[in-house]
Amino acid sequence: MTSQRTRERLITRLSDAGISSRAVLDVILNTPRHIFVDEALASRAYDDTALPIGFGQTISQPYIVARMTQLLLESGPANKVLEIGTGSGYQAAVLAQLVEHVFSIERIGALLNRARQRMRELKLYNVRLKHYDGHMGWKEHGPFDAIIVTAAPAEIPEGLLAQLAEGGRLIAPVGVNGKQQLNMVTRTLAGFDREVIEEVSFVPLLPGSR
Ligand code: SAH
Repeated sequence: MTSQRTRERLITRLSDAGISSRAVLDVILNTPRHIFVDEALASRAYDDTALPIGFGQTISQPYIVARMTQLLLESGPANKVLEIGTGSGYQAAVLAQLVEHVFSIERIGALLNRARQRMRELKLYNVRLKHYDGHMGWKEHGPFDAIIVTAAPAEIPEGLLAQLAEGGRLIAPVGVNGKQQLNMVTRTLAGFDREVIEEVSFVPLLPGSR
């Protein structure tokens, strides 16, 4: 159920859905998504669906992970990337195999600890994790080439935009009630350019940490 054939079927599906980056598809093919979910759900780990990871949170659908990662890579340089909402750590693990440095912030300590173990297990030493409220970003390590937000705010937090490098992109679902629009904001010399990509559904970005 977690076999090579099951994984290849997922890649075909993503490719049919418009994911064209060979690098992204290869990383998804080679990343064991089943270790990012509870053992009881392992048989569904290569379905193209979001799955529960506890605490009312979910691991994102592979299509959306692929879409956001491809968008990030094709829109400009991406050496240093910040993720808000580590969750299972799957998106961070995918990114870690494609960019030099990944920083990721999670507000739920128990999820972060599990994600940390998975990074160690996969020997992904270029991921730095932090237990905090992601609204504030991670100033000490900024500015970032890209910021990817994997929980939905009602409005893009200003504090995050401030940590974008010039030419940097912030990719975030924006909106309420599980129905949002994926936005890409690019920092230019003159200010910020905003583009709407597609309709998506994420858990909300919440205040504080626990
Ligand atoms: N990228 C994750 C998806 C996680 S779902 C993955 O690949 O598995 C979104 C995550 O965002 C949840 O774990 C939730 O706890 C976290 N989150 C919500 N609000 C947050 C905030 N203000 N700061 C940091 N993390 C937050």
